[in-house]
Amino acid sequence: MRAFFILLARNRLALAGGVVLALVVTLALVTPLLPLANPDVTDTSNRFRPIFSEGALLGTDHLGRDLLSRLLWGTRLSLAVGFAAAIFAASIGAAIGIIAGFYGGRTDNVIMRGVDMLMAFPYILLALAIVAALGPGLFNALIAVSAVNVPFFARNIRGITVGIAHKEFVDAARLAGLSNTRIILSEILPNVVPVIVIAMSTTIGWMILETAGLSFLGLGSQPPQADLGSMLGEARSALITNPHTSVVPGVMILVIVMSINLLGDGVRDALDPRLKSGALTRPMAATLVDRQGPVPEPTGKGLLEVQGLKTEFHVKDRIYRAVGGVDLHVEKGECLGIIGESGSGKSVTALSLMGLVASPPGVITAGAAHYDGEDLIGAPYPRLRDMRGRNVAYIFQDPLATLHPLYRVGDQLIEAIRAHRPISRAEGRAKAVELLEAVRIPNPEQRVSDYPHEMSGGMRQRIGIAMALANDPDIIIADEPTTALDVTVQAQVLTILDDLRRSRGLAIVFITHDFGVVAQLCDRVAVMYAGRIVEEGTTAEILDFPRHPYTARLMACVPELGGGKRRLEAIPGLPPVVDRLPPGCAFAERCLKARPDCRKGEIPLEPLGRRRIRCLYPEDESREVAQ
Ligand code: ADP
Ligand code: MG
Repeated sequence: MRAFFILLARNRLALAGGVVLALVVTLALVTPLLPLANPDVTDTSNRFRPIFSEGALLGTDHLGRDLLSRLLWGTRLSLAVGFAAAIFAASIGAAIGIIAGFYGGRTDNVIMRGVDMLMAFPYILLALAIVAALGPGLFNALIAVSAVNVPFFARNIRGITVGIAHKEFVDAARLAGLSNTRIILSEILPNVVPVIVIAMSTTIGWMILETAGLSFLGLGSQPPQADLGSMLGEARSALITNPHTSVVPGVMILVIVMSINLLGDGVRDALDPRLKSGALTRPMAATLVDRQGPVPEPTGKGLLEVQGLKTEFHVKDRIYRAVGGVDLHVEKGECLGIIGESGSGKSVTALSLMGLVASPPGVITAGAAHYDGEDLIGAPYPRLRDMRGRNVAYIFQDPLATLHPLYRVGDQLIEAIRAHRPISRAEGRAKAVELLEAVRIPNPEQRVSDYPHEMSGGMRQRIGIAMALANDPDIIIADEPTTALDVTVQAQVLTILDDLRRSRGLAIVFITHDFGVVAQLCDRVAVMYAGRIVEEGTTAEILDFPRHPYTARLMACVPELGGGKRRLEAIPGLPPVVDRLPPGCAFAERCLKARPDCRKGEIPLEPLGRRRIRCLYPEDESREVAQ
């Protein structure tokens, strides 16, 4: 509950709406205590006195009645009727919706068709008809406005209830022997109340307007009783000659409905957990680039050369430095492994290259990624889109999440090709079969018309690889493609990737947290920690003699087959939170060899033999892997 109010207060507009509404409601509540003129006493000698007249702050109307007094009494009445109508409509509508949704079947059918019939009338016409039948009067207007809004609540709540009524916890309550009434009250109702509140908060404004509309037409409050709608209606004939008589109630209606709507939107946002994470904000087409310093010049090393890449997430007043200056390169036909604990920034590095990090909150603040001499980081979006999939392709961890569940895999492959060049159906199909063959899917002619759910996990991942191959890219970035697979399937997938690399001269950037996979596939490996590369060199060298204490400790965590009995080490402590990185070495906190100067300044990634390492006191080459 506290969290709800904090969230609500953070939304400035909702807060403003809330404050204004609270003010109006307080005014309406204390109206009987204020020293106001009687709102209904006419004084025709003082007709149409202007605003700020002596004794009538807001002037008088066509019968000489005090407008301020009428306004406050009228607001009181309009608010009361609006809120009452909303509560009426919400309770009756919710009750109908819950019963229809919970019992389902014929009950649902009969009730909902009735509701549909009500909804088929234009609602103002329906309200007019109800008032005409019941006779004019404020209470009848209230009934009419509630009645026309009941279907809206009934439909909304029924939909939610249908979803909840078949959940396991409701079945559990049934198995526990609870009666239907108890189940509705204790299991269903608490789950729909937030929806009712949201629907109400966004419709009260409407109901106040509708009631005012009926009063305006003379069907609501009857003279001399003032409500905002009837005040407007009576002022209509003097709209040109004495506009203030219309403006006074008009502005009040505007203020009330505006503040209720702003507050209502705020309530809805605060109650909807999906909005808290900003999940509904639409990211930009390409990651925002905001480079302050100079852009590094390419040195011509490799097909893809990344220099000083920094990617940050700006969330409210916090800055998460997910990638803090990464340098790496990959040659044609080479496989580069990037290894590191979860959260070390591997995925963000990979996604930054093609501008795939969601912005907001992601921002690339420094560095360059030269592909064949062209800087990808500053590239305009159309160019990036053109290169995505055609020059640099991605394979992700979960193929089920990346494949469309409703299309056949063959069509999805063709679609991937069509994104870059026109291709006829027959030609596309032939190419799709060829791709499936390349990733060694048996019976490709039949399999091409399978749906993703008809395939096993390993096969789906091979489809993922086929899709990455569809446009003959030069570089494939594979982000933990085998993490979700079992070991034998993983081995098959790795073999396929290795063969493709050799036969097509593909460069592969392989992201993983598994040294076994690195050993099997990669020529070179870069070890990442807290958003930076801490050690980089050939796989053989690094796996034989890890020299950065972090690499050494990481490898000591891996069990060895036939390595005899030894205690498996876990690295104590946790990786640092990337919005509060310590100065100096980020690993110092967990490192046994750390000395005071490790925690001081920036430690560069420096050559050491044939590798590069970011450490002041590297492990001795002669020593065995850290114990
Ligand atoms: P991994 O090495 O496991 O692939 P990631 O590259 O996904 O790690 O994440 C690196 C860091 O970036 C993590 O600390 C993560 O919390 C942070 N991060 C990733 N996405 C976001 C985001 N949208 N907002 C804030 N922080 C993020
Ligand atoms: Mg990742």
